[in-house]
Amino acid sequence: MRAEIFLCLHRSLFLSWENIIKENKLEKSFYQIDQKQLATDLQTDLKEGLSKTAAAERLSQNGENALTAKKKKSLLSKFVDQFKDLMIGILLAAAFVAALTGEQTDALFILAIVVINAIFGVFQESKSENAIDALKKMATPKATVIRDGLAEQVPATNLVTGDLVSLEAGDVVPADLRLVDVANLRVEEAALTGESVPVEKTDKILTDGKLALGDQRNLAFMNAHVVYGRAMGIVVATGMQTEVGQIAGALQGQDETKTPLQENLKSLSKVLTYLILAIALLTFVIGYFTQNMPVIDLVLTAISLAVAAIPEGLPAIVTITLALGTARMAKKAALVRKLPAVETLGSTDIIGSDKTGTLTQNKMTVEKVVLKGEIVDLSVQNPFESADLSTAANRLADVMALNNDSQFTAEGLVGDPTETALIDFNEKYRPEQLALLRKQERLQEIPFDSERKLMTTIYGADEAYQVTVKGAPDAILSRVKNVWDKDQIRPLTDEDLASYQKMNGDLADQALRVLAFAEKSVEHLPAEAKSAEMEADLTLIGFVAMIDPERPEVAESVAQAKAAGIRPMMITGDHPQTAAAIAGRLGILEEDDDRDKTVMTGAALDELSDESFEKRVEDVKVYARVAPAHKVRIVQAWQQKGKVVAMTGDGVNDAPALKAADIGVAMGITGTEVSKEAADMVLADDNFSTIVTAIKEGRKVFSNIQKALQYLLASNLAEVIAIFTMTLLGWEVLAPVMILWINLVTDTLPAIALGLEPAQPNSMQQKPRGKTANFLSGGVGPAIIWQGALQAAIVLTVYGLALAFPDHSGTALVHGDALTMAFMTLGLMQMVNAINVKSVHQSGLNASAFKNHFFNAALLFSLLAMMAVVVIKPLNPIFHVTNLDPYQWSIVIAASLAIIVVVELVKWVQRTFFNRG
Ligand code: ATP
Repeated sequence: MRAEIFLCLHRSLFLSWENIIKENKLEKSFYQIDQKQLATDLQTDLKEGLSKTAAAERLSQNGENALTAKKKKSLLSKFVDQFKDLMIGILLAAAFVAALTGEQTDALFILAIVVINAIFGVFQESKSENAIDALKKMATPKATVIRDGLAEQVPATNLVTGDLVSLEAGDVVPADLRLVDVANLRVEEAALTGESVPVEKTDKILTDGKLALGDQRNLAFMNAHVVYGRAMGIVVATGMQTEVGQIAGALQGQDETKTPLQENLKSLSKVLTYLILAIALLTFVIGYFTQNMPVIDLVLTAISLAVAAIPEGLPAIVTITLALGTARMAKKAALVRKLPAVETLGSTDIIGSDKTGTLTQNKMTVEKVVLKGEIVDLSVQNPFESADLSTAANRLADVMALNNDSQFTAEGLVGDPTETALIDFNEKYRPEQLALLRKQERLQEIPFDSERKLMTTIYGADEAYQVTVKGAPDAILSRVKNVWDKDQIRPLTDEDLASYQKMNGDLADQALRVLAFAEKSVEHLPAEAKSAEMEADLTLIGFVAMIDPERPEVAESVAQAKAAGIRPMMITGDHPQTAAAIAGRLGILEEDDDRDKTVMTGAALDELSDESFEKRVEDVKVYARVAPAHKVRIVQAWQQKGKVVAMTGDGVNDAPALKAADIGVAMGITGTEVSKEAADMVLADDNFSTIVTAIKEGRKVFSNIQKALQYLLASNLAEVIAIFTMTLLGWEVLAPVMILWINLVTDTLPAIALGLEPAQPNSMQQKPRGKTANFLSGGVGPAIIWQGALQAAIVLTVYGLALAFPDHSGTALVHGDALTMAFMTLGLMQMVNAINVKSVHQSGLNASAFKNHFFNAALLFSLLAMMAVVVIKPLNPIFHVTNLDPYQWSIVIAASLAIIVVVELVKWVQRTFFNRG
């Protein structure tokens, strides 16, 4: 006894709660501790949870409940990383050669450019990282915690040891929990234990000795998925203290995924690098043997070529454009969880969308009820005031209140809108009874799931246990034996059944969501409620019909999607007639659509083989009464046809479909944490229209990346052709510093600015680009080649003319002037060409051409920076240029602008005679 007292004192006086945990971990494991003892040890309460102040204190003392991800790279290591590039190696070699040949200024300048490039690289990397971090923050999972006796949703990172957490199907377990109140909880914890079948959990103490994790059944571990049931649990470990946190290396290998585009680019860059080394070698050989050029000049030329041809800025531009795209999407409520999704989004062909909450508002209101075989319109009649109906109405309302999981919290009534509507109904007509009913203790339950489409609860005491069932009318009617009629129970006849089925259909046709209610009493409380026994031989009480208005903006988005060649489909657990009625109002179904072909039920789908379904899949626009597993089949059938499928989902069972889809879309508000984890994108507002907006953004991002690519590759090609030809002709070749300067100025601002271009006006009138399209599709590849060649041709013409007609105004044109003119023309023309690449086939000078102010500023700044090296005399020697006179400038400017005239002309010919764009 003394020892115990001492231990107690010792505990409360000398040990922080954190040490207590450590101590417990050493002596006893959490599964071996009695609930009350645990609550005392962790200074919490099994019903009320922690107080808000205690939770805040613990949070500030012990930090966030987060698995610390890979250590962030420091700025310095990011900077050093920039030098690990082959390109930089070549440039450093160039600086070395320049220094050897006595060209100190060249050497220093090359080094300066390398450093500026690296700084710019660090800047871009950090900017992309910040955008992605911001996204991650927005996607932090939420947890329901009871503090000061009230339930509230908090970011899971705010949980602390001792917090009382509520779990339900679809949740990702937010920390390690000792379960204290379990109702049919089943948890999938394969990632931790390797056990792929969900494990049944308990709240009982386990007194055995050392148990393997998989056998610690009264604990739920962080990151496991709740697939069924409900429970309360006390947080016993957070963050890195949790079991997953402790697994060494668990967090490694979580490298950010590269998008297909980034992968393609990586291989393209590799190929280009080798190709260019080969061309450089060839130039060297030709120059040496045919032109007798000095070796040093040839080395410098080869280096110029390499500098010219390797698109060093590309990967960074792509990453930053994608990252900025995700930031823009986030502002419009589409949170992209995986970067590749930004790219895939733009090519979406099919959107399979849930109905409830995504196409509709998920604001349910009970409009009609069916009592004693009659439809009662609540806007016309109050059944509680009718002598004939009041008993049945009260019985129905009782079951509505009892068979209900919604909860009164600090923020008011929360829960599934289908269920809160039933409470609202009670509150409106009989608030006192509602208060009494809510006090009753639920003894057993079989939670709702979208396979059974039923939910059951058991209340009562001593041989009068009341089983109440609610669910989809078809599911209930097939389990009903009796019916409540004339305030008494009698067997259900075939006529009754037919009449109820007809009423169900009629209500569904009015776009109403119908729920049926039934009950029975049993003498013995089952040890565990099983569907087969409890949901059979029921007595039907009545129906409730609710309106769930469509979201007002969805019809417009459906029309937009259709115009963009995207097919919107409704996939719902609701009745086919309700589904069809709403799909008709939204334009998913058209007036003259044959409903037999365009509406398919899950049951009908089950009867089709994969082959026969593939034949029918193109007809169907509405799938009703489907279970989540059907969604996977629908996704796969379309993918078989080579289509890119976006699919929404909110429940725990939707995760496989979300993973199978090209774009899995989860719901931010009503979605379960499991579905969010499986998704590529989360809709912060649950709204279908947001998907269409995101697709529009996705198309824009892709086409802007193409613009930047076309711009940079055409410029590089022009440089290579020009240098190669100059060598062949024995002309003085552009120096590495010139090429470096052009690339520094063009690769940075104008290229990024192209990534920020607004969407093209017709972007949502074009068909999806298709799965096989890549960044060279849509005429971009050929445009790079002819525009690159054209630029080179113009530069060489200017150079050739300047060499051929040296004396234009009495002053002799020296060689240096011709080279300077070629250099300036090449640089300025590339920038002017940025206007051309705004559209592959449309005019670059249309009404919206200069709406992107960042682009305008970037272009102006770059043009001035380019000209500065010639205009500002002290800079001339660094760049090996001479100062041009007005006559020479006018030739340079005219030649640079010529690129717009010629390209516009070619585009016009392409549009007019070849039907392009
Ligand atoms: P969607 O799939 O478009 O979100 P949904 O909400 O109708 O539509 P489910 O949640 O799978 O899809 O529900 C299927 C059916 O189950 C509903 O049409 C309704 O009849 C019934 N149902 C829905 N919620 C409950 C509930 N809480 N209790 C009992 N039955 C329910």
